Amino acid sequence: MHPFAYTKAMNTPEALDAGRRGGRYIAGGTTLVDLMRETVERPGTLVDISALPLRGITVTRSGGLRIGALVSMAEAAAHTAVRAAYPVVSQALELSASAQLRNMATIGGNIMQRTRCTYFRDVSAACNKREPGSGCAARDGFNRSHAVLGTSDQCVATHPSDLAVALAALEATVQLLGPDGERTVSFADFLLQPGSTPNREQALERGELITAVVIPAHPRPLKSGYLKVRDRQSYEFALTSAAVALHIRGGVIREAGVAAGGVGTVPWKLPAVEQALIGERPSDRLWSEAAGHAADGARPLTHNGFKAELLKRTVERQLRTVGGTE
Ligand code: SF4
Repeated sequence: MHPFAYTKAMNTPEALDAGRRGGRYIAGGTTLVDLMRETVERPGTLVDISALPLRGITVTRSGGLRIGALVSMAEAAAHTAVRAAYPVVSQALELSASAQLRNMATIGGNIMQRTRCTYFRDVSAACNKREPGSGCAARDGFNRSHAVLGTSDQCVATHPSDLAVALAALEATVQLLGPDGERTVSFADFLLQPGSTPNREQALERGELITAVVIPAHPRPLKSGYLKVRDRQSYEFALTSAAVALHIRGGVIREAGVAAGGVGTVPWKLPAVEQALIGERPSDRLWSEAAGHAADGARPLTHNGFKAELLKRTVERQLRTVGGTE
């Protein structure tokens, strides 16, 4: 591990000042400390933000949910309002990491976590994300777990967060606070596809801090759920996953939010699947036809061609689980 300075911010202005001067924010530390040990990350200064008032889960005036950035994954998963209104969120959280990690890791840190690409974590391998311009060892290497959607010549790494897939399906927003004040970014714009700059992963300006994630109000009743397919049933990242939220009234699907994980360089919203569902009546045939669009645009690599078909089946199964048949 490289030497670094550590400071604990006791209030938000202190944190922002340290962030503006180039300090890296740390809360649960479950990703960053690992990466520092492996010398993948080498921050000069860590700014501990765990004392900031960014906790709490509240119902917004419009009926949505605001989850503070420092709420732990375990607390959010267990919260009564989250479980009642958005099972897709609590399920995505409970299928992530291990119980110990969920107790430490925060909501803000979860959506900031970095890829599990093994070449990214091996400092002897070429990796444009870690070392811009050095190449991408995964493209010609073992890429079974890598992305098939949103890739570029520069990087094909998946985004690892399950929570982010649920938030994408629900069209959440991210609240940010920086030296120039507050702003809100749609979740779709917050996480960046690699393009020619895979080292830039979030739409964050220097010194900006995530203060909360906000899930907008959705029409009721809203059925939702998360399915994660992986090589083993515990403490493993997704090969594919599907977050589904459906508003069904009068036997007709009025609103649909569907997103996929394990397949994209960012959580992958599936508008073609959503459009195929809206205005239709739930049926096995509808689930199958809509899920047929899930892998539109997929570009498989040498070892991950199976993901396109697995994704369609994952989405179809989760549509059936959430929507049932009438
Ligand atoms: Fe690095 Fe991305 Fe290539 Fe992995 S896929 S080696 S993270 S550039």
